[in-house]
Amino acid sequence: MNRQSLSVQVNNTRRFSQDVDLAILGGDPVIRPGRIAPWPATQKEHLDALRDVVESGRYHRVNHPIVADLEQNLSTWTGKWKVRAVGSGTAAIHIELDYVKDRGERVVTAALNWPGAVGPIAISGLRPVFVDVDINLAGIDQQAAAETFALDVGAVLITHLFGNNILVPEARSAARAHGVAVIDDICQSIGATKAIVNGAHIDTDALALSGNGAKHLGAGELGFVITEDPQLIEHVDCVSLTSSSRRGERIFSPYSQGYNYRPNVFSSSIAKMRLRSLDTQLQIRRDNGSILWEMIRDLSGIFPLFDPSDCSQSMLNFPLRIEPETLGFRPGPRARDSVVKLLQAEGVPVWVWLTKPVFEYLPNMGNSWRAADFPNTVKLLDTMFYVSEIAPPNDAQVMELYAEAFHKVWKALSNVGPKISDIATIV
Ligand SMILES: *Cc1c(COP(=O)(O)O)cnc(C)c1O
Repeated sequence: MNRQSLSVQVNNTRRFSQDVDLAILGGDPVIRPGRIAPWPATQKEHLDALRDVVESGRYHRVNHPIVADLEQNLSTWTGKWKVRAVGSGTAAIHIELDYVKDRGERVVTAALNWPGAVGPIAISGLRPVFVDVDINLAGIDQQAAAETFALDVGAVLITHLFGNNILVPEARSAARAHGVAVIDDICQSIGATKAIVNGAHIDTDALALSGNGAKHLGAGELGFVITEDPQLIEHVDCVSLTSSSRRGERIFSPYSQGYNYRPNVFSSSIAKMRLRSLDTQLQIRRDNGSILWEMIRDLSGIFPLFDPSDCSQSMLNFPLRIEPETLGFRPGPRARDSVVKLLQAEGVPVWVWLTKPVFEYLPNMGNSWRAADFPNTVKLLDTMFYVSEIAPPNDAQVMELYAEAFHKVWKALSNVGPKISDIATIV
C-alpha cells in the first residue's frame, strides 16, 4: 500500500473512531500518569530492613542471621520444603540441574519459555529438548513431554509463567517411572511452593524461585533452591561457594565449582520483610485479577491464559490472549500489537512478552529447532500480552480504570474493525 492511500484510510479511520476519542489520536487517556503504583511498590519500611543490615556490620556471608531467618521463614511459609537462598533464580536453576545432571544428557522443557530459565541447561553441560505447550495452560504439554522421557532424558524443567500453576500430574508420574528428575521453575509463581494439589504439595525434586525486583518478593537480586532433599541443599556449596562456608569458617578454597551465587544480604532483608505480608499480597493480586476479568470478560475475542478465579495461582501479571479471527483480523500478531498500542496510549500497563520460541533467543540453538514445529507456542506468542501492576497498593478502583480503557478500545475496534491497526502503526 502506498503512503497516500494509507493516509486516506487513516483519515477515514480517524473519522469513524472519533466518537470514541482514543488517546492515541489525541483524546484524553483513561488513566492519568502517576495514578498507578508500579511494582516493587516502594515503602519507607524497606529502609528499616536495610538499616538492619547496616547495623549488623556484615554486608555479605551466606550464614548471615538475616539470610538464615529468611530461609527458615520461607520454609515455614511453604509448609513443607527446605530452603537455601542463592544469588538469583537463574543460579537456583543451574544448581538444581547440576545436581541431577548424571541422570541423563537431556533436559525437556517448553518452547514457550524464559531464556533465563533455559540458559542453565547449557551451562550445566546438558542439551535441551523442546516440546510444545498446552494452549489452555501456557505450560508444557505433558503428553509431548512424557513421549521424550525414554531418550536419555535426565530432567524435565517445568516453567510456571505469570503466576499460573503447571500441575501436569501425568508428566510428573511419567517422569518418576523413567527416573527423570522433576524441576519446577516457579520464579513467577511463588504460591506453587504451597499445598496446591488438593491439599498436597506438587510432586517435584526441586523448585527454583526468584526474589528479583519484578517478582513477588520484590527484593533486588535473590533466588532460592527449594527441595526436600538435604543433599541438594548441600550441593549449593559445591556449585556456588568460593569463600566463607555455610557454617561460618573462613575457608578460601573449599571444594566447589566456584560460581559466586551468594545471596545478597540487603535483598534478603527486604524479602524477609515482604514475606510477612505475602499472603495478603497474593490475595490482593488474585482479587484484582478476578475483578478485572469480570469487568472485561464480555468483550469479544479476548481470553485469559489461565483462570483468574483459581484461588491458588499467584497472579504475578495477568496474561491475556486475543483471538484475531473473532475481531476480523487475519491470524498473526497484528491484532494483538494494535490492541496493546491503543491500551498503552490510554495509560494501561500492558506489555507484549517474548515474541519468539525460546530457542531463538539462545546462542547456538536457533538452527536446530523450527518455530513451525511448535504451533501452540507460536499461536500464543502471536496473540498474548499481559497486564502488569496488578499488585497492591493498586486496588479495585485501578482495575476499574483498566477495564474502562479496555471497553473504550473495544468500542473503537467494533466501529473501525481491523483497520484500526492503521492508526496503531502510523501514529
Ligand atoms: C525471573 C525468572 C527467572 C530468573 O530469575 P532471576 O532471579 O532473574 O535470575 C527464571 N525463570 C523465570 C520463569 C523467571 O520469570
